[in-house]
This record gives sequence, C-alpha cells and structure tokens, in this order.
Amino acid sequence: MIFQGNSLSAQLLDDGIVELKYDAQGSVNKFDQATFEDFRAAVEAINNCADAKGVMVTSGKPAFIVGADITEFLETFKQPEDQLIPWVKAASDVFDSFEDIQLPTIAAINGFALGGGCEMTLACDYRVADTSVSIGLPEVKLGLMPGFGGTVRLPRLIGADNAVEWMSTGKAHKAEQALAAGVLDAVVEPEKLRSAALNMLKAAIDGKLDWRAKRQPKLEPLKLSKIEHMMTFNTCKGMIAAKAGKHYPAPMVTVNTIEAAAGLDRAGAMAMENAGFAKLAKTEAATAQIGIFMADQVIKGKAKKAGKQAKKAVNKAAVLGAGIMGGGIAYQSAYKGTPIIMKDINDQALDLGLTTAAGILTKQVERGRMDAKKMAKVLNNITPSLNYDSVKDVDVVVEAVVENPKVKTAVLAEVENLVSEDAIVTSNTSTISIDLLAKDLKRPENFCGMHFFNPVHKMPLVEVIRGKDTSDETVAAVVAYAAKMGKSPIVVNDCPGFYVNRVLFPYFAGFSHLVLEGADFTAVDKVMEKQFGWPMGPAYLLDVVGIDTADHCTGVMSAGFPTRMAKLENDPVSTLYQNDRYGQKNGKGFYDYGTDKRGKPTKVPAQAAYELFAASCSDKKEFAADEIIARLMIPLVNEVIRCLEEGVVDSAAEADMGLLYGLGFPPFRGGPIRYLETLGLDNFIAMADKYAHLGEIYQVTDGLREMAKSGQSYFS
Ligand code: NAD
Repeated sequence: MIFQGNSLSAQLLDDGIVELKYDAQGSVNKFDQATFEDFRAAVEAINNCADAKGVMVTSGKPAFIVGADITEFLETFKQPEDQLIPWVKAASDVFDSFEDIQLPTIAAINGFALGGGCEMTLACDYRVADTSVSIGLPEVKLGLMPGFGGTVRLPRLIGADNAVEWMSTGKAHKAEQALAAGVLDAVVEPEKLRSAALNMLKAAIDGKLDWRAKRQPKLEPLKLSKIEHMMTFNTCKGMIAAKAGKHYPAPMVTVNTIEAAAGLDRAGAMAMENAGFAKLAKTEAATAQIGIFMADQVIKGKAKKAGKQAKKAVNKAAVLGAGIMGGGIAYQSAYKGTPIIMKDINDQALDLGLTTAAGILTKQVERGRMDAKKMAKVLNNITPSLNYDSVKDVDVVVEAVVENPKVKTAVLAEVENLVSEDAIVTSNTSTISIDLLAKDLKRPENFCGMHFFNPVHKMPLVEVIRGKDTSDETVAAVVAYAAKMGKSPIVVNDCPGFYVNRVLFPYFAGFSHLVLEGADFTAVDKVMEKQFGWPMGPAYLLDVVGIDTADHCTGVMSAGFPTRMAKLENDPVSTLYQNDRYGQKNGKGFYDYGTDKRGKPTKVPAQAAYELFAASCSDKKEFAADEIIARLMIPLVNEVIRCLEEGVVDSAAEADMGLLYGLGFPPFRGGPIRYLETLGLDNFIAMADKYAHLGEIYQVTDGLREMAKSGQSYFS
C-alpha cells in the first residue's frame, strides 16, 4: 500500500500498476473536503513511487463516485465570490495534478459516476465502464456547473456541442449512450470490468496504445475553426435561451464559459471554469436548488424511516369514490404495484375512472415509456366494484367521495365496520377537519387524512394529516404507502386548510384585495407568472381549482380563522361564483375558455368578469410589479411562518417542499422559507410592516421578529 486514507487508497499491484481505489468508510463515495485531502496525498504518493507504471482508478462500492458532497455546499458558498475562486481552484488543481501524472491512467467505472465522479473519469486517459453505469454532469440541476474540470475536459473529448448538451441538460447517460458519444472507450459486462481495464492499461504501458496522444487534446485549446466556433456556440446559446429562461442562469453561464475558454490551454480554461463556478455558486437560483435537493433528502429520509416504523405494510388498498380524485388514486396505486379496489355507488363513475386510468396509460404507451404488457398489468391491478365485499381484506382505505361531511362520516363509519381491526382508514378531504370526521369512528387511532392533489398522477405531494387521536403507527404506514405510490408525503397536523390550502388562501385574499382596489387580474397574473415564476397566476389558478371550490374553501378558512381570514365584502371570487362563473369546469371564470378553429384550447380575459368587477371594485388602477408581488406573497409567507410556529408542519424544509410539490412554487426560489431568507428576514419584515394596515394577513408574528433580531435561520 503506498497510500491509505479514510476515503481512498493507492496500492501497487503486480506489473507496476497502482490501483487508486475509492472506498469511503461508512458512506457512498463522494467528494468532500476529507476526500480531496486523501486524493491530493494519493497523487503525491503515486508520483513518488518509482515502481509505478500506470494507474487504474476503481471503486470498492456498488457505485463509482456519486458526486460532490452537497451538504457541504451551502455553508461553503456563503463565502464571497473572490474567496470561492481559490477554494474551487484548490479542488480542480488536484484533478489537474492527477491528470499530469507521467504514467497512463484508466478509470474502471461501475454504477453511478455523476458530477465529480464523472469528472474523476475525465481526468483519466481511458475510461472503461460496465453495463450498469450511469454517467453525467448534473450540476445544472443545482444551479451550478461542473467545477472539477468538466467544462474543460468534456468539450475537448467529445466536442463542444455534445458537451454543452450533456452539461446544460444535466442528464445521466447509460453506458451504451456514453460509449456512442465518445465519453467511454469500452463497455463490458460487470464481471469483466477489472480485467478489461487492466488489459487496456497494460497495452498503454507496453506502448501499444498512445496514452500521451490521448491526453494531449485535453491540455490544449479546442480545435474549432472560426466558423465552427460561431455556429456551435450561437446554436447552443439560442437553444438554452429558449429552454432555460432568465430565472435559471446556470446553463447559459456554462456555455459562455466553454466559449470563452475555447481558445485557451488547460490552465487558462480552468481559470475560466473556476470563475464561472464561483459566480454561479453565489446565485439565488443555486442556493434555492441546492436547498431543494437537501429538503427532498429530508422527505425521502422520513419516508424511509416510516417504512421501518409502520406496523402494517400496505399490500392491498381500496379507494371509495371513482371520481376525479378516486380514479387518479386508483391509477397511481395500481401503477406503482399496489392492487386497489375502486368502489363507487355509480356504475358510470366506475367506467369513467377506468377510462381515465386507461387514457393515462395509453399516452405512456404511445410515448414509448411503457409496453402494452405493463399497461394490462396496471389495469388488472384496479378492481372496480359497486359493493363492499371485496373491501373487507384491504390494508388501507382511501375515502374520496363527495366533499360533504354527512356523506363522508356515514361512508367512513360503514367502511370501518367492514375492514379488519388493524386496517387503516384515510380521507382525501380537502376542507373537512380530520378530527370532525374521526368523531364517530370506533378506532380513530387508525384514521388520518391522505390529501392528494389534482391531477393525482402528476402532482408529487400527499399531505398526511394527523388528527388528535391518530397513532404514530398509522401515520408511518400511510407515509410509507404514499412513498410506495411514488409520492412525496409530508405529515401535517389537522387545522383548517391543512398546510397547503391554509397558506394558499391568504395569498388569494391578497389577490382579491388588489382586484377590489382596481388591479387588472391579467396584469397580476402576468407579474406572478413572468416575474415571480409561478406556473399560473392567481386568477388562472382560481379558474383551474374551480371558482365554486375556491368560494367554498374561503368560507371554511374564514370559519377557521375568523379575524385573519374573514370573507371579504364583494370578494371577486364570490362575485364570479354568484354569477355562475365556475372557472375552467364551465368554461367561464376570470377567463373564457374554448377552442380555436384547429381544436386547440383557448383562454381569453372575460369581458363579463370585467363588467362584474366594474360594479363592485374601485376604478382601474395600475400597480407596480414589486407591489403586486409583495401584496400576494407577504400573506402566504406569513401564514407559512404561523404553520411552522404552531407545529402544523415540522420543518422549514418540509414547508418549502410542500408548496413546491403541491402548488408548483418556482424551484429557482426554493420555496417560501428559502424566498424569505433570500430576501432577508429584516427586509421582509420592513416590507410587511409597510402593508400592515391592510389587515392581519400582512402582520408578521413576534416569532419572526425574534428570529430576525437574533440573526437566526429557519433552516438551522
Ligand atoms: P367527484 O365528484 O369527481 O367524485 C366523487 C365520487 O364519489 C363520485 O363518483 C360519486 O359517485 C362517488 N360517491 C358518492 N358517494 C359515494 C359513496 N357513498 N360510496 C362510494 N362512492 C361515492 O369528486 P372529486 O373531485 O374526485 O373529490 C373527491 C374528494 O377529494 C372530495 O373530498 C374532494 O374535496 C377531495 N379533493 C378534490 C380535489 C380536486 O381537485 N378535485 C383535490 C383534492 C381533494
């Protein structure tokens, strides 16, 4: 052994081959600060080893190297940009010094080689992979670009256009794709990986392969004529501008960096990369996207733990109601492998539920994402039923009948009597208190809310709502079932609106206030979509949710929080509702919906809506974009803070992910709490205080003032 560290070792084998083996103690292989130190020391040891003739990089784990240690990023990135440049340079220098070892080098790649893992292989002269490999540079998904030489080496290896494609999409590639792209030199079966890599390295040592010639292009400027240069980068930039948009700077900074570095040697190009990386590390988008990655890990970690705690595994389920939600829930359960009984009182509803599921599946088959066999299997997992017989032996029931407390209480009591004592019963109610629904149940400890979002197959969030009597085992089993369905479950406590709707309705109230004061709803939608980044502005979202549903929810929220969320006089939403404008469902709401000559859906601001508002709202008035954003976002953020303070939701990470997954909160903003912290707590308070006279929804809590005063973060 010529070097032994905690993350990797270097051992001199027969024939003068040094095996540089990544094998981190107690973790997957990843690049953290300690690993860099080991890597640096190993390179030095190899350079000092007189008997070494070649280097083979391997992994002692099922994955090669999964990337950099993201948990270290946010803390590190707090440094100013000019300090981050030497920090990332120190890391890329180690990769350069490895590349400069005056011996042939090869990577024997297995499993994941992502980010820094991929860059480790690019610093080698040759790359042999087994068929299990998934290789790529996903940094863009964190708002970053490769920082360990990826932007320098990959374009020189496979051409600038292909390299930009790899880096700007961040996609992971299978071994065969990477071979075709020229990233890999060979792909073999897993059992042959080691011998194939050794053979290729020996050929290089013996002079049968010219490793110096293979290495040389990586040290030089890109070989592009002026015209090729112009064509390549103009095309790439055009594509990226159209796809990424202004809120996501990483892809464009990446392509600009590669372009600026194209005429430079490795040292010059690497300096460009160091600077580009540091620049991106300081963007709000990177902070937000890294935050999302970590928050998602929190949710996944909790779901995994729940799977172990749950006293009951869900192997068979039932859904009551085959409507919009019931049909979606049945599809999702079946698709992810848990057979489900779909029970309704109406034969036509069952047909519609099955037809909807078949429709989603057919689309997947048409897009080549699924074969007909799998489609048949999924459909076979759904058993439609008009009676309760088959529900008797299920592990979990999801009630999704009409939103009526009387009907729901009766249905829940009936089904509780049929199922086994340890079966779990849940409700997909969106507005009725879980404690109220549990009131007449014999086993309230086995009952909780399981709130899906519409459309079920697309929306990742499930709110698991804990009632006052719900047991931890029940919560754990339902969390595990939601995760098994491919969803991201967040546990919340019972309260009006639960978490997502509770914070959404103050936002809608902020919108209603503005319209009452004369704002044009299309102008508000435009600002909230284009500038803030929501997938839909509030007026459009209200139309999609359904004006009738929204009006009903406003009533529920005002009953729950009578002072803060009292119903507004002449609320534009109620005005539309009272005039039979229910939104998309009947083609008329804030907008009119229809189809054009080619059958494509249309959406135009409704003259009728303007006329109705003219009678009940102030004269038309223009509002600045900043004011529109403040007046909608302050109520939402304030309510999120209240939910955290009251323990409705457990952590800032879950509060952020709830809105990301449940409402499509713009990812480049990271979620409501990340947005708050990016603005700065003091700045947010100053902004909210300006509007405090407008009502309680604008007034910040004492807790937030305390946090700001003591300089605390919601994430620590
Ligand atoms: P829906 O009207 O489309 O479907 C309700 C179905 O329940 C109908 O098919 C009806 O025949 C059936 N039903 C009525 N009584 C029944 C009974 N006793 N036994 C079995 N089936 C019965 O309604 P939906 O939009 O699917 O909503 C269902 C539930 O999900 C509601 O509680 C709603 O608040 C909630 N929810 C809806 C949405 C949404 O966007 N639609 C989102 C989240 C939650």
